[in-house]
This record gives sequence, C-alpha cells and structure tokens, in this order.
Amino acid sequence: MNVNFIGMTIIRYGTAEQKARYLPDMAAGRVIWCQGFSEPDAGSDLAALQTRARVSGDEYVINGAKVWTSYAALAKYCFLLARTGGPGKAGIAIFLVPMDSPGITVRPISALVGEGDLHEVFFDDVRVPGDCRLGQEGEAWPIITYALANERVGIARYAFARRVLDGMVAELKQGGRFQGAVVKARAGRALAACEAARMQVYRIVHERASNLPPSAESSLARVAVVNAEHAVADFGLDFLPETYTGRDFPMHLSHHERAIASGIASGAAEVQLNLIARNYLRLPSGVRQ
Ligand SMILES: Cc1cc2nc3c(=O)[nH]c(=O)nc-3n(C[C@H](O)[C@H](O)[C@H](O)COP(=O)(O)OP(=O)(O)OC[C@H]3O[C@@H](n4cnc5c(N)ncnc54)[C@H](O)[C@@H]3O)c2cc1C
Repeated sequence: MNVNFIGMTIIRYGTAEQKARYLPDMAAGRVIWCQGFSEPDAGSDLAALQTRARVSGDEYVINGAKVWTSYAALAKYCFLLARTGGPGKAGIAIFLVPMDSPGITVRPISALVGEGDLHEVFFDDVRVPGDCRLGQEGEAWPIITYALANERVGIARYAFARRVLDGMVAELKQGGRFQGAVVKARAGRALAACEAARMQVYRIVHERASNLPPSAESSLARVAVVNAEHAVADFGLDFLPETYTGRDFPMHLSHHERAIASGIASGAAEVQLNLIARNYLRLPSGVRQ
C-alpha cells in the first residue's frame, strides 16, 4: 500500500513536514500502513462514509468503524477517511493516524483470502494532532480519486496470474495432458488476458511517469487485471482441478482464492465498468423512472 498509493499521495499532496515524517520509513520498507476507507454501510458508495472527525482545540477526535481493513493488525499508520463536514464527498477529510493511538481497537475477520489479512477497526474518541490531516477539509475528494487511481494498478497481479498459468501449463505438459485444441485455446485465451492486463497497467505507469492526471484508463486496467486473474483461475479449475487440494500447488490455490476476491477489493469491478461507461466511453447514464 505504501508504494502503491499512500506514499504517492503523500508525495503529491503532503506538506514538507509530512513528507519528511512519513516517506523515509516507507521508502526503506520499514513500516506498514493500512487503508481505512470501507465501512459497514459505505463500500462502493464511499462518499456515504460515517466515521466522524470533530475539531477539539488543535486536535481532531475521531469516532467510527472501518471494515475489511487489510493488514490493520500489523500497521503503524492508517490512511483514514473521516467526515469533518456535511454529507457527501465535500464533507470528507483524510487523516494519517498512528495505529497505536488510544481508542483504536483492531479485530481480525476470518476470510478466504487468508487468516490475518482482513480486520474491523473501531475508533472511540481517538485524538490526533491537527497536522495529521492530509490536504484541506472539504478538498479531499480529488486526493482520494488520485489515491484510488494508483491503488487500482499498483500490485502487478497480472504477473502473478501469468506465473501461475505458466506453472499450470508446465504441469499439464509434464503429465501429457496439454493435448488438443480445447486446452491450448483456453490457455491461449488466459495468456492473452494476462498480456492485455500488463499492457493496460503499463499505460498507467506511463501516465504517472508523465505526471498526467488520473484518467479512466486506471479503471480499464483494473478490469483487465480482474479478467486475467479470473481467466487463469477458470483455466485451472477446468483443466487442473487437483490444484484445489492446495497440498502440492499452494501458489495455484492462493491464486484461485485471491481471484475470487479480486473483483471486489480496490473498488468492485462492476463499479469500474460504470466508471468506464461514464468517463471513457462517455455513455449517457440510465433513465431514472
Ligand atoms: C481482499 C479484500 C481486501 C480489502 N481491503 C480493504 C482495505 O484495506 N481497506 C478498505 O477500506 N477496504 C478494503 N476492502 C473493501 C473493498 O474496498 C470493498 O469490499 C469494495 O469497495 C466493495 O464494497 P462493499 O464490500 O461494501 O460491497 P458493495 O458496495 O455493497 O457491493 C456489493 C456488490 O454490488 C455491486 N455494486 C455496488 N454498487 C454498484 C453499482 N453502482 N453498479 C453496479 N454494481 C454495483 C458491487 O460490484 C458488488 O458486487 C477490501 C476488500 C477485499 C475483498
């Protein structure tokens, strides 16, 4: 998360003091951060979040609950969204919260993607200094959009999918089972999906390297990566079902499990399709009854 989007966002929007405080440990790989966005009633509709930050002197007092927070039990800081103003996007602010602050409770959630990965995080009268706020109150949404655009492409999951696919094809060849048009065509289709995802992600890398503003391309890349992960997982299911035992093929099993969650984490793939329709294809939105 540090390299994916949190560090990038602090580099772009942090004060000189915040950069000096947070970036060296990130760059050196000495610290883990977590992302406090999702709430029980605010996932795809992130702007509905309810966690509140109230001004108290030169501090903020934070109350609320986050859910699905990856690595929260290991994290030293949380990149937290909380409401300082009214409803909707304009009322949200960003806080860089030390996870050892009194009033924070972290509880693990048992999940398919791995024990210890996901958590609920509760904030009960958590006090943070005012200089923990990233950006101004009421101006957080463009920063959040920038952070999300980076998050969607930050992990090279197409590369992991490709490695799993290569391993599966090698396994099938070894057993004399990579025979006939059907298995080869399906492997080819999965390989093409991995390559398409790689090319889409590289477009975003180019966008970032050229310092261009985030575009709908990051949603395209995200959907392409999800397609690649699903194509590889489906290929394994159909042609190498024994990988699901997990004993001999732990990497394949882990890929299958993560592929199930991949269309949900970092913003659901269906929501990315909506964004592509609106921001890339410029399609008209549906007629309201
Ligand atoms: C492995 C994993 C790790 C995660 N880590 C983190 C984390 O570290 N920090 C964090 O804050 N969150 C994290 N999340 C949460 C993730 O961001 C949310 O699950 C995601 O944004 C979807 O929100 P939701 O779960 O509330 O589902 P909902 O928003 O309730 O969506 C449910 C279903 O409805 C569909 N849907 C919703 N709205 C629309 C729409 N407008 N059009 C079409 N379909 C729609 C969605 O596609 C989805 O299939 C993680 C999730 C997973 C699976």
